[in-house]
Amino acid sequence: MTFPRVSFTSASIGHFSDFNKLTKFDGTRFAPYPLNIMKMAILLAAIAPLLLVNCKKQDPMATQSTPPEQPEAKVELTNAEWKEKLTPEQYRILREAGTEAANGEIYHEFKEQGTGSYFCAGCDTKLFSSNEKFDSKCGWPSFYDPADAQNIVTDTDFDLGYARTEVRCKNCDGHLGHVFLGEGFNTPTDKRYCINGTVLKFVPDSVDKE
Ligand SMILES: [Zn+2]
Repeated sequence: MTFPRVSFTSASIGHFSDFNKLTKFDGTRFAPYPLNIMKMAILLAAIAPLLLVNCKKQDPMATQSTPPEQPEAKVELTNAEWKEKLTPEQYRILREAGTEAANGEIYHEFKEQGTGSYFCAGCDTKLFSSNEKFDSKCGWPSFYDPADAQNIVTDTDFDLGYARTEVRCKNCDGHLGHVFLGEGFNTPTDKRYCINGTVLKFVPDSVDKE
């Protein structure tokens, strides 16, 4: 077996030495270090608000004392109208299939809530009830069944590279979360509707009955 001979011609060596010259800091050809530090500072200043947004506390789950009126037809809004109606986090989840942070304030709030019903924050459709709520310890609100199955549609997505069953609101087509089957939870269905609490609206029963 023969290997190709590697040889440096004077031209290529000349090239290397030029390269050396170019990469050497001589204080004149290239930006002096303080300028690089300034660029870094400008970049940090630019991304700081984004970091702050990510660290921001979650808004509490919308709660109201009376059940909202149910939509009689599909709710179809433009993206601009949705942006006006929803909080940025609700928009990200409902309209862009986002996911809220696990184990966030919403999840703890959900665990503390008494009996009641859960409605879509996008269109007010009744989706879930505390009767089917259970603690899956997964970090997101969990139900083993929808309160009214006809208000839920499911679809398969491959967002994480494998098939998951997406759960959406039938009336506004908003993304709610996913449903997982056969995980061994001791519930009547062994399904886990893993739902973003940010896009739910809670109406407690106690106030409901007053
Ligand atoms: Zn909806």
